[in-house]
Amino acid sequence: MYDCEGCGRSRQGLYFGSGIGEAQWWCWSCQSTDQKELINSLDGRAQGVLNRDADGVHWPYGPNIYVQMRADLLDWADRHDLKIGNTGCQSGLHWLDKGRCAKRECHGKPEFYDHTTTWLSRTTGKPALVFNQPYGQVDPAEVRESISEYPSLTAEVGPESWYGAGTTGVYIWNDGNRP
Ligand SMILES: [Zn+2]
Ligand SMILES: [Zn+2]
Repeated sequence: MYDCEGCGRSRQGLYFGSGIGEAQWWCWSCQSTDQKELINSLDGRAQGVLNRDADGVHWPYGPNIYVQMRADLLDWADRHDLKIGNTGCQSGLHWLDKGRCAKRECHGKPEFYDHTTTWLSRTTGKPALVFNQPYGQVDPAEVRESISEYPSLTAEVGPESWYGAGTTGVYIWNDGNRP
């Protein structure tokens, strides 16, 4: 909960606008009709992309409070033909490689893991991507090293992310599960 731009009180709400520093917090009572419509339309677009229950869409960390990140995440997921996948696999790599984590004890993940999300191909329904968005630069060699024991996986490091705020997009793909 943060201080609302409208009433100045610390109330439940969401951040609107781009940029973690610049976005403005509006509480549920003070949100405009346009802001409410934007929230609803993004919830609608999340159908088939993210999970939901009676409490609403399960937005990942970041988009859970930043509305602009919701839009950016949905555009990104459309571009890559992805929907959210859930796994208890710590690194996600066993799941990405074999479709499940068969390790009795699955611990540990590389240093570049942050804001981690795991994704399925919408077309094949199979694990396609382990996605990290750490702050700052990431050495592609470090990412390749982390997946060296998985011949089916490939790595890609790029500026594109939906978290923004100076984070880097670190992609670990299972290309065999993508159309
Ligand atoms: Zn308010
Ligand atoms: Zn695992």
